[in-house]
Amino acid sequence: MPVAPAASTVLSFEDARRVVEEHAALIRAGRIHAGGTESVDLLAAAGRVLSERVTADRDLPPFPRSTRDGYAVRSADLSSLPATLDVIGEIKAGEEPDRIPPNIGGRQAASIMTGAPVPAGADAVVMVEYTSQQEHRVEITHSVTPGENVVPRGAEAREGTLLLDRGLRLNPAAIALAASVGKSRLQVYKRPRVAVLTTGDEIVDVDAAPGPTQIRNSNSFSLAAQVQQAGGEPVLLPVAPDELQGLRRLIAEGLKSDLLLLTGGVSMGRYDLVEQALSEMHAEFFFTGAKIQPGRPVVFGKCGAGTPFGKLRAGSARESPATYFFGLPGNPVSTMVTFELFARPMLEALAGQAPRNLIFLHARLKKEIQTKTGLQRFLPAILSGEFEQAEAELVPWQGSGDIAAIVRANCYIVIPADRERLAVGEWVAVMPR
Ligand code: AMP
Ligand code: MG
Repeated sequence: MPVAPAASTVLSFEDARRVVEEHAALIRAGRIHAGGTESVDLLAAAGRVLSERVTADRDLPPFPRSTRDGYAVRSADLSSLPATLDVIGEIKAGEEPDRIPPNIGGRQAASIMTGAPVPAGADAVVMVEYTSQQEHRVEITHSVTPGENVVPRGAEAREGTLLLDRGLRLNPAAIALAASVGKSRLQVYKRPRVAVLTTGDEIVDVDAAPGPTQIRNSNSFSLAAQVQQAGGEPVLLPVAPDELQGLRRLIAEGLKSDLLLLTGGVSMGRYDLVEQALSEMHAEFFFTGAKIQPGRPVVFGKCGAGTPFGKLRAGSARESPATYFFGLPGNPVSTMVTFELFARPMLEALAGQAPRNLIFLHARLKKEIQTKTGLQRFLPAILSGEFEQAEAELVPWQGSGDIAAIVRANCYIVIPADRERLAVGEWVAVMPR
């Protein structure tokens, strides 16, 4: 029994993005997380999402740390210059505690190295460049303020302070911080499984010899690579035909994953059947288009376990009532752009990651742009220049089917829906890719 496709809901870019973010927040609130956590080696945790809280196991730094090679002094002794002080010891990084002078008295100094503990009594370190030592006396030509070149014990973090919170995507700095507090393994969220389903009678596998009017499946690969980059585990399904029964069967298969990404079949053509198939499966649609280019026909919704086609994942602890899906347009550039704009935040939420705002940067426009109003545009572009002279220009392209053009691009220029002409030298928004 055919069911009419959902009434069309075409949103502005910002509204569509907000809808996605609201659902991502629901996922986080309900901790509808893909599949628990696992313990991994510290290095293997790079790029993963932390599922434990990491605290300081001791004060950081654990002792007042010298940030320079020089002399630990009492700053008050350098009020008149040059000053000559008695050198009563030498302290290297990692010095045995019993070899550190117990106190630096008036008119005394200790030679000290970067990273070494500043002894009691001293309140500053004067750089070696401003000193000359003869035997056990050092002459100092520059004064220091109290605390100069010393990081006090616990100034970076007190023992027990939260350093890395759950939901953090672990970058190299976070890995270093975990190492500094002795975490050789970290607990991270398991990667969500993201089904990738390409549709289209003209699409053939990458290994097949395409007929004269056939196209090799590239979208499954761009999407799978984007899923991997965003912290998911792609599950590639066979290419679905432009025919309802086969399409429904593969959609049902895809709904067993934590997120389903479809590509193709969401435009207005007679064989664009994705929305109809999903409607027949009682899907709920949050939007069926966004006022953007490329990617206008993008669809977002939820379809689920309560229907005759979905079912609860066997062995899954959580009672997920439905699986979110995106119907991304089939044109390869549209597929990639709409993944970035809409699918990525959902995937990150499923991966346990804390929310991130989408932020555009600014660059000077290198070549004029003429366009039409009505759609917010995300056009493949090249960001060039150096240091604070960032410039951007569009990549010449044959429209959103042009994969070769998008490979040359390293960003998208973001053009507001009400702009028709952008002049050379204007500041334009760019989204790096
Ligand atoms: P559709 O969104 O199904 O109307 O497809 C739009 C365009 O994208 C058509 O030219 C398709 O041949 C092309 N296309 C759709 N799916 C893929 C894919 N998986 N790989 C490469 N091109 C595709
Ligand atoms: Mg198609």
